[in-house]
Amino acid sequence: MTDTSVDVEALDRWIRRFAEEVSKNKDLLTDLDSAIGDADHGSNMDRGMSATVAALDEASSQGRPLTTAGALLKTVGMTVVSSIGGASGPLYGTLFLRMGTSAGDVEALDDAGFSAALTAGLAGVVARGKAELGDKTMCDALAPACAALDASLAGGAGLSEALAVAATSADTGRDATIPMLARKGRASYLGERSIGHQDPGATSVALLVNAAAATLGSRP
Ligand code: ADP
Ligand code: MG
Repeated sequence: MTDTSVDVEALDRWIRRFAEEVSKNKDLLTDLDSAIGDADHGSNMDRGMSATVAALDEASSQGRPLTTAGALLKTVGMTVVSSIGGASGPLYGTLFLRMGTSAGDVEALDDAGFSAALTAGLAGVVARGKAELGDKTMCDALAPACAALDASLAGGAGLSEALAVAATSADTGRDATIPMLARKGRASYLGERSIGHQDPGATSVALLVNAAAATLGSRP
């Protein structure tokens, strides 16, 4: 097993891929949110990730490239917080900000460092949103993805393989939100009527983890 370095360029590719996937799936995310929320998750996420890509472009065009993993992830988090409203802005913002703090001032993360950063991001989302597993939120996709990533790496898998397993776990966690009764966020106002609908935030998190599997863990 050799560590694959997740350097600043790789993180940049990940975030840009996520932005592309959010843009492609904007209508799906909004349709899901129209069933159990207020029909804005697609536009919220697309606005936030477009602003994030613009912030990444601006940093490099102004000759002050983001040179550490922590700086890049914190820029993502701050842009997300300031450009996405609703529940998902502070929650996604916290995810990336905590990842940035965990990553620190290094040019590259090793496999365990990336896994630790994602788990720190999850802890931030849980601390902020107070969701428990099974509450039908983004945590129901993110927590199993973090657990699978950590367990796969501990079992000797390389980062590519571990991220592929994590992406499958995120997809399974997303699908498992369908029969759940929502206990957090707007969907919880619907009570029993939230049952039978896929959670929009768990759906966007699955896009995030799949984007990681597509862009990290192997050299381009
Ligand atoms: P809003 O609900 O304010 O309109 P969005 O539609 O952008 O915000 O995001 C909704 C998503 O946010 C939900 O599908 C759910 O996954 C997530 N969410 C809402 N509240 C919480 C919470 N307390 N903890 C974790 N995730 C939450
Ligand atoms: Mg909404």
